[in-house]
Amino acid sequence: MFDSKTRTVVIVGAQWGDEGKGKLVDVLSERADWVVRYQGGANAGHTVQIGEKSFVLHQIPSGILHPGVRCAIGNGVVLDPETLFTEIDELIADGVDVQGRLYVSDRAHLVLPFHKLVDSLSSASREIGTTGRGIGPAYEDKIARRGVRVLDLRHRDRLRTLVEKGVAHANAMLASYGVHERADVDSTLALLERLARRLLPITDDVGLVIHRAITTGANVLLEGAQGSLLDVDHGTYPFVTSSSTTTGGAAIGTGISPMAIHAALGIVKAYTTRVGNGPLPTELEEPLSTQMRTLGNEFGATTGRARRCGWFDGVVVKYAARINGLTGLAVTKLDVLDSFDRVAVCTGYKIGDDLYTDFPGDLTALEGAMPQYEWLDGWRTSTANARTLAALPGPARKYLDRIESLVETAIAYVSVGTRRDQIISA
Ligand code: GDP
Repeated sequence: MFDSKTRTVVIVGAQWGDEGKGKLVDVLSERADWVVRYQGGANAGHTVQIGEKSFVLHQIPSGILHPGVRCAIGNGVVLDPETLFTEIDELIADGVDVQGRLYVSDRAHLVLPFHKLVDSLSSASREIGTTGRGIGPAYEDKIARRGVRVLDLRHRDRLRTLVEKGVAHANAMLASYGVHERADVDSTLALLERLARRLLPITDDVGLVIHRAITTGANVLLEGAQGSLLDVDHGTYPFVTSSSTTTGGAAIGTGISPMAIHAALGIVKAYTTRVGNGPLPTELEEPLSTQMRTLGNEFGATTGRARRCGWFDGVVVKYAARINGLTGLAVTKLDVLDSFDRVAVCTGYKIGDDLYTDFPGDLTALEGAMPQYEWLDGWRTSTANARTLAALPGPARKYLDRIESLVETAIAYVSVGTRRDQIISA
């Protein structure tokens, strides 16, 4: 992926998240100098399998698992400082050297206990199917200009006023829900006081640091969380996350120019999943749905929630290719389809009398969408040991070719298992 002309690369999910970005970031980190997270918060659970050990990373970029790679959490992330240190301590306990390798943007907004309280008690959050970790409320405060940023921890006098504002708003929300729980200023300040001692020493102007790295020829990987169809602008609104998950968000959330990005790798599963509510046009019925969920172990890394499963949706991924400017695709979990007699790809939606091949923004239209399937032969052979495209069974290659032609983007990688070495570089 990296070469003399391609040094800043974005990795985005090109479906509804959980595409296996963690594994691709892990593989590409081998040649990266920096890995930066640019949006989302502690709900984004990436799972990386190294040998027999499985690492679940929520906020720290998975590049941390490669010695020598430096990692940053950009301004676009809403940072949960409490769980950040739990994660750091777990990594240290597992023998990962974190010291001097992790930087946090001074401009990142903080997720505070009152955000979690509001999120967990709000019925609106339940309807969207959020993870209840305070991420949405923290982004709301950011946009409403009452957020608390990491750099505010440097100014204790100002911090109290900011926290008071946030708590007052949270308590007004809680009162409107008719619940008796309330947020508290002093305990929030005490927590921040304790965390600031560890957080401020790793705080930096990440945009500037990455700009300097780029100008000195470093390889920089920008790591997206969730997926393009969960982007607050381009996803299936309102069933979306609160941030810009797409390539545009990568520049904004890191603090670099969009012109500094050289390539965008879209990660897609060989099928489709989504967690939580909202449209999923190719959703499978039982018993196929359970079969795919079980084979693909489609349960959330953070919440354990069962994911909804469907056939590969070419309309969705073509749309993701367009809005992200994808320069390549990584198809993951091809092995999950190994036992199917036949596999389907969705080439368009019939909505009323019209055939759509471009993903519509109107959820009402999507609700009535009838996916148009093209059926292909299954391969009924294990792909887990293939390390070249030529080593894949013929029907699997045909399936990948069809994905490539539908999405109009070249496949750069195919992943055939959870392990680091189970990858084909196309
Ligand atoms: P992410 O947030 O996009 O990184 O996705 P998750 O970590 O939630 O889900 C990816 C899961 O799929 C992890 O448990 C990975 O170990 C697993 N995974 C990644 N690539 C493959 C693959 O090619 N085959 C199989 N069977 N599992 C994979």
